[in-house]
Amino acid sequence: MAGVRTGRCLCGAVQISIRNAPVALGACHCENCRRWTGSALIGLTVAPEDIAIVGSDSVTAYRSSDWATRSFCSVCGSTLWYRLTVPTPEEGSYEIPVGLLDNPHGLPLTSEIYIDRKPDGYVLAGATRQQTAAEFEAFIQASMKE
Ligand SMILES: [Zn+2]
Ligand SMILES: [Zn+2]
Repeated sequence: MAGVRTGRCLCGAVQISIRNAPVALGACHCENCRRWTGSALIGLTVAPEDIAIVGSDSVTAYRSSDWATRSFCSVCGSTLWYRLTVPTPEEGSYEIPVGLLDNPHGLPLTSEIYIDRKPDGYVLAGATRQQTAAEFEAFIQASMKE
């Protein structure tokens, strides 16, 4: 169900409100997401105009690659969001971890990327659309606006 979803970091210094909230989750198993989150980034993609952020003073953005930044709460260290900074259709969008949401339920996991980089000790349940690192990177290259 689309609608409003709210969330916050562990300490509450950063609070978010999402409107037109997506109805599905995606997972990324890449090395950067694994180290950043401790396992995988499981989140929802939110357009910049659909998110309101309170507590921006407590947000630190770390440039994790040439194409993206990863933000965390400067007070409690919670993972906050991933943003693409290169010109693609999703440039500027926020990838918000489902774990930030006050109500994280009712959002099925529908896709997994970097599936070939996932630690072999666990699998996520359900039938998801899966892409390997090579498949996903080819997709991103094809969608880049030159
Ligand atoms: Zn915090
Ligand atoms: Zn990733």
